[in-house]
Amino acid sequence: MCEFCVKHGEGKKWYLQAKNYSDDLLSDLSRRRFIQEFLSNPQALAQDVRRLERLDKAPLFLRGLIGRSITRKMKRVHFGQIVPLEDVEKIFEFVTSIVRVACICRQASLGQEKRYCYGISLAPQGGRFAEIVRGLDGSYLTGPDNQGLEVLNKEEALSAFRAHEREGLCHSVWTFHTPFIGGICNCDRSDCMALRCTVSHAVPVMFRGEYVARVDPDRCRGCRECLRLCQFGGLSYSAATQKAVIDQRWCYGCGVCRTACKQEAISLTERSSVPAVAHLW
Ligand code: SF4
Ligand code: SF4
Repeated sequence: MCEFCVKHGEGKKWYLQAKNYSDDLLSDLSRRRFIQEFLSNPQALAQDVRRLERLDKAPLFLRGLIGRSITRKMKRVHFGQIVPLEDVEKIFEFVTSIVRVACICRQASLGQEKRYCYGISLAPQGGRFAEIVRGLDGSYLTGPDNQGLEVLNKEEALSAFRAHEREGLCHSVWTFHTPFIGGICNCDRSDCMALRCTVSHAVPVMFRGEYVARVDPDRCRGCRECLRLCQFGGLSYSAATQKAVIDQRWCYGCGVCRTACKQEAISLTERSSVPAVAHLW
């Protein structure tokens, strides 16, 4: 269990306890302001990543100091965790509203509108979250290729997530002033600011998933199809055994590699049951 499970989930997966972090949390005006500012200003994100890139050239001790301070702050305001499709499905079971919006990261990094992000809420019609998003003056929501705020039912949303997974995107759940959960995103390492911070710059703004993957060597035929879908360097190919191999220290537990495996040789197991990585977040 990650530290959020202990602090906010009573020892269970915190994001599956979101009923405890209900719509009421949005009566907090500072949280509402934070969501509005966050969604209205994609360029602020791009600036943060440029600062991180400059920080890469700083002395090691300074990088460590600043990186830890960023992580501490992000844990309070906007922190994520990788979640596999099964857990996305469980979240969709208890939310009452799902709205699809343009991804703020892709807007900042590519200048393009890609609808990879989903706001979730426990209140009917999206509750206060949808009100906040509807009230935005965010031009990224109203560009030529974007349908703005799209309300989806659970089946439509799940089908979209399956398609994102086939594209190789992994899913992540996000807080807006922790522990309120306001969104689930579909990320890749090249364009998602959070993955770039966490994986490429070693400044974590998200936890690894609550799971790790493993390969069943009896089923694996060594086709290597799964390798192209891992964004975290967790998968390699052993020429000696002619099988795929997972280094669980680098596995974020997204489960996306399973999509590529026709042999169903890859499965997820609870991180807490693997002593070598149980405390690696
Ligand atoms: S896709 Fe499946 S069969 Fe192919 S290498 Fe990966 S685990 Fe093995
Ligand atoms: S090995 Fe599979 S589950 Fe682990 S990070 Fe890579 S794609 Fe995700």
